[in-house]
Amino acid sequence: MHQDDLATLISLEVGKITSEARGEVQEMVDICDFAVGLSRQLYGRTMTSERPGHRLMETWHPLGVVGVISAFNFPAAVWSWNTAIALVCGDPVIWKPSELAPLTALAGHALLARAVTEAGAPADLSRVVVGGPEVGEALVGHHGVALLSATGSTRMGRAVGPLVANRFGRSLLELGGNNAAVVSGSADLDLTTRGVVFSAAGTAGQRCTSMRRVIAHRSVVDDLTERLASAYARLPIGNPMAGGTLVGPLVNRAAHEGMERALEQAATEGGKLVAGGGRELEEAAPDAFYVRPSIVRMDEQSPVVTQETFAPLLYVLPYDDLDEAIALNNAVPQGLSSSVFTADQAEAERFLSAEGSDCGIVNVNIGTSGAEIGGAFGGEKETGGGRESGSDAWRSYMRRATNTINYSGELPLAQGVSFTV
Ligand code: NAD
Repeated sequence: MHQDDLATLISLEVGKITSEARGEVQEMVDICDFAVGLSRQLYGRTMTSERPGHRLMETWHPLGVVGVISAFNFPAAVWSWNTAIALVCGDPVIWKPSELAPLTALAGHALLARAVTEAGAPADLSRVVVGGPEVGEALVGHHGVALLSATGSTRMGRAVGPLVANRFGRSLLELGGNNAAVVSGSADLDLTTRGVVFSAAGTAGQRCTSMRRVIAHRSVVDDLTERLASAYARLPIGNPMAGGTLVGPLVNRAAHEGMERALEQAATEGGKLVAGGGRELEEAAPDAFYVRPSIVRMDEQSPVVTQETFAPLLYVLPYDDLDEAIALNNAVPQGLSSSVFTADQAEAERFLSAEGSDCGIVNVNIGTSGAEIGGAFGGEKETGGGRESGSDAWRSYMRRATNTINYSGELPLAQGVSFTV
């Protein structure tokens, strides 16, 4: 009912174009639908007991309070992924949104509060606390928070993870990505170009799953780079709420400075700028940070390419054989999302296999961004290892008890142990 209102707040606070902001609100709706169905499917298993007259089973119980710390770039969706699942698992939620998007948080939370009241559920099921890292730290250190689900930079996760572990709390970390597409010599370059441009330049490069690297076979790398550069030159940049805009502003000055620094470093590491590279609309909107999404050709995966720069900056690298491409894909500290564009099924299968991409999300003939809520979402290595949203991610929000029930009237011990008194 309030999809457009909430989308407008998201556009105002974080600069998402209207279509993507509406899509984010749609994710909230989708995860609520999913969670309602899930509430009847929190299955525990029964196992055959080795002892006669015994039954073995597991039951799942609510874990307790879930603390949610969220990043600026999905100011509504990440909270709702966590909250919808936590609530059907029986856990109350305390949310610390990004200090860059408090209005979206208060509005989204007000909608939930209304639904909670209408359903006749306790009002305390969900709370929002607005503030910066110091407010997050209070949740991180609190023994009453059974699960801390924190989404943001790897820097934040590195600070938060050990503190929660130190009090034997559970954490679910969703951190930075450095996502690549491997483009094989057999790829459909038209489809690849469209997939790459959406993932790399869409959302102004400010998704955790944004594509930051293209690793293209040497036979197609020049052609693909030209196609990408030509598409980048045509991208409509401007007011995110104006019809036709595809690239809104960066979230703030710091994001722009980060992009400038990365471009300078790339140049010193041998990079050649082939698209973008500058600020746009500076006179019309001096306090907003619009940039033309950039592409830098690199001969190798130098240090700057291994870092996450949270801006629309894409590196294009060549490869000669698939093993090398897979090694490059995996040779970064982050492990969130990855794609292969190919018409060769054997190549696709290798990329998906245990010897292939080491990421939590591995796609074929589609970009690295734009996941659906039905699958578990998250990544490996410095991305934190957490999984949110669909599939069996609910298990992180519950505690498991293993039960043995003896209806035999005897007391046989497991493993044939004898203990007679
Ligand atoms: P950030 O790390 O600056 O902030 C994220 C949240 O953590 C904010 O709410 C902030 O207040 C809080 N925070 C920061 N330091 C803290 C501390 N020491 N203790 C407690 N709370 C603390 O990140 P950001 O700039 O808002 O978002 C961009 C980053 O988030 C990127 O790295 C992006 O890849 C990542 N991200 C990851 C996912 C994912 O699912 N893997 C999703 C969205 C964003």
